[in-house]
Amino acid sequence: MNFHKLKSTLKDLGEPNFRYKQIVGAFCEKGVLDYSQISNIPKKLAENLEEKINPLSFSVEKNYSANNNFSFKARLKLNDGELLETVFLSPAPGVWSACVSSQVGCKLACKFCATGQKGFKRNLSSEEIIDQIIFWKHFLREKKLNGNFLNIIFMGMGEPFMNWEEVKNAIKQLIDPEFFNFGSRHISVSTSGDCLGIKKIAKEFPQVNLAVSLIFAEDNLRSEYMPINRKFNLKKLQSTISSYLEKTNRKVFLEYVMLKGINDDLKQANNLINFIETIENGKKLLHVNLINYNATMAEFAPSEASTVNKFKNYLLRKSIKTTIRKSLGDEIKGACGQLAG
Ligand code: SF4
Repeated sequence: MNFHKLKSTLKDLGEPNFRYKQIVGAFCEKGVLDYSQISNIPKKLAENLEEKINPLSFSVEKNYSANNNFSFKARLKLNDGELLETVFLSPAPGVWSACVSSQVGCKLACKFCATGQKGFKRNLSSEEIIDQIIFWKHFLREKKLNGNFLNIIFMGMGEPFMNWEEVKNAIKQLIDPEFFNFGSRHISVSTSGDCLGIKKIAKEFPQVNLAVSLIFAEDNLRSEYMPINRKFNLKKLQSTISSYLEKTNRKVFLEYVMLKGINDDLKQANNLINFIETIENGKKLLHVNLINYNATMAEFAPSEASTVNKFKNYLLRKSIKTTIRKSLGDEIKGACGQLAG
């Protein structure tokens, strides 16, 4: 929804100021997607708006749902024909989280990532990002799903810090009480390790959660599979995370996708421990999320469950906070690194 356009259109139509608030409330709070369903505006106005402004900046190409009914993915077609994917998951009873995309494709080309392997098409506008939220709000309501839409995670297609201006504008609108009124602590931004971006978020949104997709704690390996490491190596990342922790005193999640035979042995676990221990307050504020790889590329396979458990227990014995993250979206290829449009 282009809210600037909505405001100026209402002005051109000679509507009183309160109409804008009524319509914004219907879209952002209630997830209404059809002007005719906004009960407190005149029918004639609803018809006028129907002709002048599309509620969403995309159409729905396809909806997927996992058998469990706790994870959904939508493939969306943007106005220029580009395809986008976005995911809606329930990580706990009564709680819904949207995993939103910030770019069509991604320039960073991590080798294990379906998005990265498809190349980069373009950045999303803040409107296209926000519309994913309106879309899922509507979905929750229409499907009569139990629970509340509480969390937003920038972990879909793209590296959020490579499109920071638009992501920033979207976050501003998401936490604005006049629009969506999400709490900052219910929003998470996941980066592949863009140090400049981490500095920016520490300054601009210290209450928004940060996750770093570390995946490898050895430079050679990380540079091989995640080209961003050639620009921001592990030393730079450590010092940036240190400054972040010092400034915010907030917990940071280190995402570690377990790749069979590549990063899942005890040597790599020791590298990870060293990485964390070298960061001041690392043991206190860093939390490792071990993520099962969902096979999308022939050359990678998920680590065995026993290996993941062994890795986890090894970290725990060294007092590293560690959890194995359940991958809810696997069946619909909506899990980490699987969105490709
Ligand atoms: S893992 Fe993230 S940063 Fe890397 S290619 Fe995929 S979307 Fe881009």
